Amino acid sequence: MATIFTKIINKEIPADIVYEDDLCLAFRDINPQAPVHILIIPKKPLSILNDAEIEDQQLLGHLMLAAIKIADKEGVADAFRLVLNNGAGAGQEIFHMHFHLLAGRPFSWPPG
Ligand code: 5GP
Repeated sequence: MATIFTKIINKEIPADIVYEDDLCLAFRDINPQAPVHILIIPKKPLSILNDAEIEDQQLLGHLMLAAIKIADKEGVADAFRLVLNNGAGAGQEIFHMHFHLLAGRPFSWPPG
């Protein structure tokens, strides 16, 4: 089912886009949890990481390599956290899989 992220991909609603290529889009989170909080999403509408198949192997790697590029562009390549909430029980609210790239403040472990 299409989510608000599909509308952002299609430029039907605005977002502060920081990176885009053929396979993915990255934009600032509307409710940032750190000075840098960017969502990295595949253009392919995978609802949840669990839906990924072997054919998505390259896409998943692509998203992580995009994260490195974006972190570098944001000046936070030395310390960032990449988070993926897989399923409602893990905190996923938007069912279009995405990585959160968080940086710019200290992080504790384990995460809350
Ligand atoms: P989840 O909880 O699914 O892992 O993360 C969803 C994230 O999407 C949340 O951090 C939330 O703030 C962000 N978000 C929800 N709606 C919008 C929106 O319309 N625009 C942007 N830029 N971020 C959104």
